[in-house]
Amino acid sequence: MSPEKKNIRIPPLKGAERMFFMIAVLPFAKSLTRVFLTFPPDGSLQEAEIAETGSRLILFFIPVFTFQKQYEVRFSNGCSGQIEGLSKSEILQANRQLLEEHLVIRQTGFPVSNCPHCGYPLDQDFEYCPKCGTPLNR
Ligand SMILES: [Zn+2]
Repeated sequence: MSPEKKNIRIPPLKGAERMFFMIAVLPFAKSLTRVFLTFPPDGSLQEAEIAETGSRLILFFIPVFTFQKQYEVRFSNGCSGQIEGLSKSEILQANRQLLEEHLVIRQTGFPVSNCPHCGYPLDQDFEYCPKCGTPLNR
């Protein structure tokens, strides 16, 4: 078995949430009827409302629609690429050669430069190397 044909293990891809769930408890009051009742302190006849009150538990199920799904390769040196033309199940079962055939390297995600001290890939706006702490004069 040549190294080119060796299967590489790929951890499962994170799936998007299919449903967003929320709970709310809200008070409610509903008027049932109007009556005339004797008002206790002075015994006068007063118009009154009989109401139903309580709390409502409300469950929201909000569906999440995923679109423009893409599959990316993120190299440890900061470069990234997109895998085109393979389905998710094909990617999960793919070997190295097949992935490399379908890999399209994009210009985004490339490090602008490397640390002069340790060689770690750096973004353009870094003032210090995140690995060794060397100040970067730009
Ligand atoms: Zn460094």
